[in-house]
Amino acid sequence: MTAEHTQVQRDPVAGPIPPDQVTGGLHAAPGQDMEDDWARAVAILGSAREVCLACHVRPDGDALGSMLAVAHALRLRAASSGQRVIASFGDDPFEIPKILRFLPGADLLSPPDSYPDRPEVMVTFDAASADRLGLLEARAARADELIVLDHHASNTRFGTLHLIDPAAAATAVLAYDLIGRLGVPITRDIAFGLYAGIVTDTGSFKYSTTSPRVHQIVAQLLATGIEPGAVALELWDRAPFGYLGMLSLVLGRAVLEPAAAAGHGLVWTTVSRADRAAFGLPFDVAESVIDLLRRTDEADVAVVFKESDGGQWMVSARSKGKVDVGRACTRAGGGGHRSAAGFTAPGTVADAIAGLRGYLADWADGADSRR
Ligand code: AMP
Ligand code: MN
Ligand code: MN
Repeated sequence: MTAEHTQVQRDPVAGPIPPDQVTGGLHAAPGQDMEDDWARAVAILGSAREVCLACHVRPDGDALGSMLAVAHALRLRAASSGQRVIASFGDDPFEIPKILRFLPGADLLSPPDSYPDRPEVMVTFDAASADRLGLLEARAARADELIVLDHHASNTRFGTLHLIDPAAAATAVLAYDLIGRLGVPITRDIAFGLYAGIVTDTGSFKYSTTSPRVHQIVAQLLATGIEPGAVALELWDRAPFGYLGMLSLVLGRAVLEPAAAAGHGLVWTTVSRADRAAFGLPFDVAESVIDLLRRTDEADVAVVFKESDGGQWMVSARSKGKVDVGRACTRAGGGGHRSAAGFTAPGTVADAIAGLRGYLADWADGADSRR
């Protein structure tokens, strides 16, 4: 373990987990049991001949970033151990989202069809349930050891070993802890992945999970020389000119429903395939719309329906704190956290928004409990 890691893990500033961050969590806050689990994970990863990593489908910065960071760390150790490291995610077609292609280590990834059928040791990243592994779900079920690294309170504990902390701002924070316990120093490549995970899941350090410890970790990541501005530019701060035209359509049709979510307010809109096609834009550009919508003062909840190239509606939901969108989206067949969640709508937007209105009302502060 490096001196830096020892220092951060013992840091008293990290303090106890605020009770509001563990409510809704089905599982105990980390304590001695978690320490034992960390030690077991290090032992398992230390003795494996082959380690297979997998993150959730349609990976975001946290899923792919934390997995690549651990892949880099294991590869560094593999120089002496000879361990094989495989990293993938279960999408078909297997495509790295455009905005994440800047992350170092894309060459460490392999498509799911070359993934071992029965992994000796498998580690999952940012997946709250086995079905979030897509094509790799069956492999996870067959793995001898399945280590689940995650920060969703709703995690179904589908592994043989669970490193789950619902209070963690990102899976990348847990990946940072794991890398420290493996005794690998934070390199620039590792830092890129961890930083992408943290900056994504904290909404650029705006969500309530942004603790002093998050900033302490990030200080170490930045010390490796990565530039926050350059990462933000890749992730969000750039788009073709046509993006502005698409935004004018999408924001222009936003609907405000002040009475929804038990009076806390809902604002929502859609980004259809046609909206993007009109300006020749890929799916990725729809991801940033939620950050504009959630600025609406009159609504605690913001929701964006994003139509994929295949015609499926992916839904992003955000709350400012009065409504548990994680619970609401779980009811809609997806999952997530109290303030950031999502689901894939099986039918039309009209059906999905009708269902969601009910779930949001159920999971709003001060609502009559119809749950
Ligand atoms: P997004 O709006 O895509 O950034 O997603 C926000 C959060 O919602 C993610 O970090 C996931 O925890 C969760 N989430 C999004 N889509 C799904 C889904 N289809 N199923 C389960 N959880 C989801
Ligand atoms: Mn994720
Ligand atoms: Mn995450």
